[in-house]
Parts: sequence; structure tokens; C-alpha cells
Amino acid sequence: MLTAALPTATWEMTNTPSAHSPSARSVHVLKPHGEDERRALLYLLQDYARRLEPNNKRIQSCGRRVAPHRQGVAIKVENGRAAYHGVMRCGSLYSCPTCAARITEQRRIELTSAFDTHPEYRPYLLTLTMRHKYGESLKRGIDDIQGAWEFMKSGRAWQAFKTRWYIVGTIRALEVTHGRNGWHPHFHILLVSEGEWERHELDQMQAELEKLWLNALKHHGRNGQDGVAAKVTNSEGVKAYIAKYGTEESWNAVSELTKSGVKHGRTDGQRTPFQILASTPHSHRDRKLWHEYHTTMKGRRQLIWSRGLRELLGVGKERPDEELAQEEPTEAPPMAVLSRTEWRVVVKARWRSLLLDAAEAGQAVLDTYLAYVRSQVVKVDLQTGQIYYPSPFMGELPPNVRIARHRS
Ligand SMILES: [Zn+2]
Repeated sequence: MLTAALPTATWEMTNTPSAHSPSARSVHVLKPHGEDERRALLYLLQDYARRLEPNNKRIQSCGRRVAPHRQGVAIKVENGRAAYHGVMRCGSLYSCPTCAARITEQRRIELTSAFDTHPEYRPYLLTLTMRHKYGESLKRGIDDIQGAWEFMKSGRAWQAFKTRWYIVGTIRALEVTHGRNGWHPHFHILLVSEGEWERHELDQMQAELEKLWLNALKHHGRNGQDGVAAKVTNSEGVKAYIAKYGTEESWNAVSELTKSGVKHGRTDGQRTPFQILASTPHSHRDRKLWHEYHTTMKGRRQLIWSRGLRELLGVGKERPDEELAQEEPTEAPPMAVLSRTEWRVVVKARWRSLLLDAAEAGQAVLDTYLAYVRSQVVKVDLQTGQIYYPSPFMGELPPNVRIARHRS
């Protein structure tokens, strides 16, 4: 599991014991599990990804450089979630974990609201897989599975299938995992239907799809496993997933579609791309796999909506990844604004994730952290902009803040 490979962190903030009662101290725990761990993990992974691409200027600046024409970086909290405003984002869906999280979250919101506002259309989740063998390139696998899908859609049998099951459109996502048998590209496809189907009907639908899919694979010189190659999840399952979404670990059909790169903790021996990235610091093989993954996936669209479906579901024009990654809700007033110099201190000290945790814990906690950050800016050479930090700075913690990090 990904979490086992990485340090887990708990954050506690303690008041400095007062002279009157040296033993008394109140402990403020910054939500020790869940969201902030996920955030810390994303920042850590982004750091790994950045180091693996030293010549990629966009990813080098992402989340680290202040955006042009901004004086500094603001911290805002909206709906309980803290975020930075005024930082550059690279918008790379397949090579930057923090941008991937931002982009997929926007797409998840779009999908969820589309089905919420149009209950007359029901999504059924179809998963299509094919057999693959170790050593095959990811590109080859993707070309074949994509080709088979195009072939399947082009036939008259598919048209007949759509009519029979009142399918008005599809939304397709390509997911990639890696396991004992190498790369495992597969599709998650939302079949959008005007019909409401019972499980026994879905079994029939699944049988028809399997026939179509195995035939399409065969046409491309590939094959799939009987009873496994095409799987259909019912609409209730999809809805239950949607309702549970946000409690982490429970991935709905929608997040199954959009969050494929982000999820972790799979038990079937398959690793997601970000799990591979997580072990790149100690595995040359995984560095090669990661490189193959992000270079092969680059430029591919995350979700492919069939023609006319966006209009039908009332969602506007599709927005590009770069634009979604830049999305900054601006309603909330800033809790703090960091100057460029202060921001450099935060980045250098690897405090970006921690500071957001502090902001979510409240203004007082954030102010304590910021006071410490500001105390670290001791001297700036006005000619060169060079900042001199008290040494040793890296990893040094505020005197009244204790951060316990341990490997689980
Ligand atoms: Zn990025």
C-alpha cells in the first residue's frame, strides 16, 4: 500500500507551558488523519515528480513560484478547505499529482452535478479489460484497447445495442495500472441510459456487451477473459458511490472515472501510477515505469464524452486541464497574505501542506505558524534577493509546535 511506503505524520500544536503551571499544556490536534494526510502525500509526490523532471520548467514552478502580477500568496478557506491563491500551476494531468487532484476534482463536480440535475438519465458503469503480457509497452496496450473500442462502436451491432437499452451517450475514461503482468490499461465507461434497469436486465446487458467486446478484441488480435472482460455496475451502485464520495477511500463511479490516477490502497496487486511514483526514490525500475507512464499519457484527454452528450446533460463546453488546474475560488476573504519572501521560506522549509492544515484549524493556529515563518526571514540582500536563513533551517520547527513524524 502506498501509505505504508511513506512517512505518516501527525501534527500537534502545544501551548508553551506557562510559568505558573509548567506541566499544563493544551494540545491542539490538527485533524491527524484523512484529508491533511492526503494533502501532505500529494505534495510529497509532487516533489518526487518534480525531481524526476529537472528540465521541465512548468513542473519546476508548479505550486512553488508566485504567479505573475501577484504581490504574494493568499491563504483562503472555502467550505472548510484551505488553498493557496496566486501560485503558478503547471496543469499537467499525468505528471503532476497536485494538479491532477485539482483537475479531477473539478471534473468530478461537473459529472456529479450533471446527473443530479438530470435524474432522467441514469449512469451505468461498464468496465472493459483485455489480457496483456509482461514486457509489453504501455503505448501498445493503449493503442490496442482503444482500437478495439473504436471498432466495437463502429458496428451496426453497437447501434442496435444502444437502441435496445436506451443509451443516449457514453463517457469514457482510460485507466492504467501496473501489476505482475505489466501494464494494465482498461476503460471505465459510463453508459448513460434513459431506461431504469434491474440487476437481471443488467446481467443481460453485460452478456451482450461481453460478446461485442470479445469480438472487438479478437479483431485487434487480442483477447479477454470470459465473465471478466466486460462488467456492468448498476445505477444504484453508482449513486451510492456518489453519495459516499468525499469520505476518501470510497471511490464512486464518477471518481473511479476521474480519480484513477489519484487513488491508492488497491489490494489486487495492481499499482496505480501514483503508487509507482511513490516508490521512485528507491526503485530504478519504478523511475522507468513512471517515465513511460507520463510520457505515454501526455496530451490524452481524461474523459471522452460521446458527441452531443454534454449538451444533453446541460454541461457547457469542456474546459482544458490547464484551466481547471488554475481554478481559484475567490469568494472567501484571505486569512493571510504571504509576501514573496515569506512564501520562499514556506516552500524551502516544505511547509506548504502544514500551513494549509493550520489555516483549516483556525486563524489563531495559522497566526502562530505565520509568526514563526516571519521570524525566519532574518536578512534579505536587496541587490540579489538572496535570503539568508538562520542555520540550520531545514526541518527546524517552531519552539511551541511539535510535529511527530514516524514511519508506520
Ligand atoms: Zn502542477
